[in-house]
This record gives sequence, structure tokens and C-alpha cells, in this order.
Amino acid sequence: MQKPNLKKNQKIELTIEDLSYEGKGVAKVDDFTLFVDNALPGEVVNAVITRINKNFGFARTLDVIKESPDRVHDIDAIYAQTGIAPLSHLKYDKQLEFKRNQVVVDFNKIGLKDVVVNETLGMESPFNYRNKAQVPVRQINGKLTTGFYRRRSHDLVPMENFLIQDPKIDEEIIKVRDILRKYKVRGFDEENQKGQIRTIMVRRAYFTGEMMVVLVSRTRDISHYKDITNEIMDNPDVKSLYLNVNSKNTNVIFGQEMTLLAGKKYIDDKILGHTYRISPRSFYQVNPVQTQNLYKMAIDKAELTGKEEVVDAYSGIGTIGLSLADKAKHVTGIEVIEDAVKDADQNAKLNGIENADFVVGKTEDVLDEWAKNNMSVDVLMVDPPRKGLANSLIDSLKNIQPKKIVYISCNPATLARDLSLLSDTYEIGDVTPVDMFPMTNHIESVVALTLK
Ligand code: SAH
Repeated sequence: MQKPNLKKNQKIELTIEDLSYEGKGVAKVDDFTLFVDNALPGEVVNAVITRINKNFGFARTLDVIKESPDRVHDIDAIYAQTGIAPLSHLKYDKQLEFKRNQVVVDFNKIGLKDVVVNETLGMESPFNYRNKAQVPVRQINGKLTTGFYRRRSHDLVPMENFLIQDPKIDEEIIKVRDILRKYKVRGFDEENQKGQIRTIMVRRAYFTGEMMVVLVSRTRDISHYKDITNEIMDNPDVKSLYLNVNSKNTNVIFGQEMTLLAGKKYIDDKILGHTYRISPRSFYQVNPVQTQNLYKMAIDKAELTGKEEVVDAYSGIGTIGLSLADKAKHVTGIEVIEDAVKDADQNAKLNGIENADFVVGKTEDVLDEWAKNNMSVDVLMVDPPRKGLANSLIDSLKNIQPKKIVYISCNPATLARDLSLLSDTYEIGDVTPVDMFPMTNHIESVVALTLK
């Protein structure tokens, strides 16, 4: 391939042919691919090149010459695309089509051409769904400012309406920001590793309305912290307030030290009728409405009769296993983070569930042991991170041979890879994408496998 003569900052007219899995417009200059922010298939745009790599480059739309009928107008695309809502310029029904299509493409690539991929299960109201915000804080023009990073950078764009977060969370962030401003607390200065507040984290439990606020600070001492604490706790919905200290030069949000400033250690929320305690570091699904739909679908696909030994692998704080425990003989959760396992045990007790246990470990290690000891599993639920299942786990599964495997995936590419490896032993059911992350390019899907 001849690399065309393209340079950074060059302006160029581009015809958009496709949408990449990240939601960027795809354009070709000769054979060279450019990924274009804020551009949709069928559009012709004036763009500026922002980066040229060896085999592909990036560009940003300056203005749209020929517009797609799928473009949304009532959202400021540039603002939304700062990273929080990269697909918000595309009509919602087209987002759902895009996600289904992405699954089809990944399955076709790996040779799984006969698998049925259903329509994406979307949300009736696809905004304001997130129950958690982690908002970066900086000192801008002498003021502590909250917002979001411009894509691929740490430049803060001041922002008050985050579109996809619970509006009560957006409100709370402004309240906390104003209290910090009142007491002249400084925002973080990343370049010089100075200043104070790095991040404000807010979680709001959808079903109980309880809120947790975590202030992440570069240093331990905050002047007037007692007044600040009192004023934040003046809001009766805030049930828990923490200070986290993170003095390192890092992108990781939380530091080691987590101190309760006021209120209780947890907030409580409900999923499918059970109560869960959520602590600041717990993994907890961010879209409460769709989580229930996803779990219901996954549990339906497991076709439980009450007699099964079920494994809930990658169990987090135990939510999937505990949601199905009343339909199974026994549930074992497997989770690598010890604190999450403690939360899961606690959650079992809290809900009076006695037929569920949780073990600390890697799924691949624990099930390798089970395979060696000829232990049987009737139904396996897996909900792995983006990288999917370990190769050794696939081997163990061929020995253990659960009658059913229900796979919840947040990455269709690794889902396709794993299913292809299991397809000689398992019949692959239909796949349903469930839109857990409207306005973003993230794709969740669920599928059941039945032992041949
Ligand atoms: N099923 C839970 C959590 C899903 S997130 C829910 O619906 O809320 C994935 C979880 O897998 C995380 O809690 C992560 O800590 C855990 N994890 C990552 N790698 C793992 C591994 N190899 N074995 C077990 N758990 C793992």
C-alpha cells in the first residue's frame, strides 16, 4: 500500500463509508484509512487530520457538507463527544442497529455464520441512565471546575449536564463543586502535580435514592473539611461521604487511603427484589434498568428447575448468583477480588440466601481444580471482562461439560472467539445484544450454549 501524502493539521474533504467499532466515521484516501470523529456513513465532511500512524490516521470533522439522515441535531455533538457519549450524534434506533451489526461482523469474521443475532434490546429512554459518575476536577481560571476530558487527552472541558448520568448525580456534583469553591479548595493541577481535588465520585442507588460521595484528593488535609463535610451532608439523600487520598502521578482514580468522613460505609440498592450493599470500590453495574433486563434474560436462558449446581463465574458482589439462587439447588460464585467476595457473602446473608457460597480466585484456576477433582457443574454463568475467557478455562470446560453455559459478554470480538472454540462441544443459541451503555460504543450481549 502506498501511503498517501497526508500530514497532521492538513484540511481535507472526506467521504464516510462506514462506522468503526469505536463509533468513528471510516474514510479512505486511496487505500489509507482515516478514523473521523463526529462523522457518519454516507456523509461528506470537511475534516482536519489530527494524527497519522503507519497504517491509519485520525481526523476531526470541521463541517458537514452532505449530511446523513441518521444524524441527531438536538445534541451538541462536539460537547457530547468529549468522551462521555461518543455515539450521541447517531439516532438511537441506528445505534441499536450498529451494535447488532457489530456482533454479526465479529461472528462472521470468526466463521460463525449461522448464529442468529437478535435485535438489540434498547432502552425506552436512553439518557440519564448512569448510576455512577467519576468527574475529573481541575483548577481553571482560578476556579475549581468539574467536567470531562476531551477525547484522548487530559484537557478538562467544563460540563454540568452529562447527558447519560442520573440528573440527581449531575446536580450533586454541582452542589459539591460549589461547596468546595466556597471554602476556596483548589482543583488538581495535573501538570505540576499540585492543587487538591482530583475527582468527585458520586453513586446514586436507583431504587432507594441513596447517594454516596467520594472526594479524591491529592493530599490528606483539606482546609475547612468539617464545614465541607457538614454542608455536603446537609443533603438528606447523601448517606455516605468518603475522602480518598491519591498522591501519585497516575490515571488510576482511587489511592489506597479511603476514610469515611460522615454517614454509613455503604449505600443500599436493589436488583430484582434483592438488596445489595455497595461500598466505594465495589464493581456495580452502571445501568440499573438494563441490568435487570440483562439478568432476567440470562437467568431465563439458564432454564433452571431448582435441581442445578450453578457456578456464577466473575461474580463481582454476587448479583447474578443471588438473583437466581431461588431457582437452583446451589450456587458457587467465583471472583478474583477478595473485597468483592466479602460483599457477596454479606449480600447473601442480608437477603437470607443460604444456598450460595463465594470463593476468591481466578475462574480458570478454580475450575481447573474442579475439573481435576471431577466435580460437576450443571449450569455455568460467565460474565468476564473485555478480554473474555482464558484458554485454559475453555479446556477445563471441555472436561467439566456443564449442560448449559450462559455467556454475558461486554466485547463481541472475544465472545465470538470463545464461542468458536466451544462450538465443537456446544450448540450455540441465539445472541441478544442488550444496550447497557446507550450513546456509547459499548456492546453487551448474552447467549446460551447447550451441550451437544
Ligand atoms: N457479574 C458481576 C460482575 C461482572 S464484572 C455483575 O454483573 O455485577 C467482571 C468481574 O470479574 C469483576 O468483578 C472482576 O473483578 C472479575 N474478574 C476479572 N477477572 C477474573 C478472573 N480471571 N476470575 C474471576 N473473576 C475475575
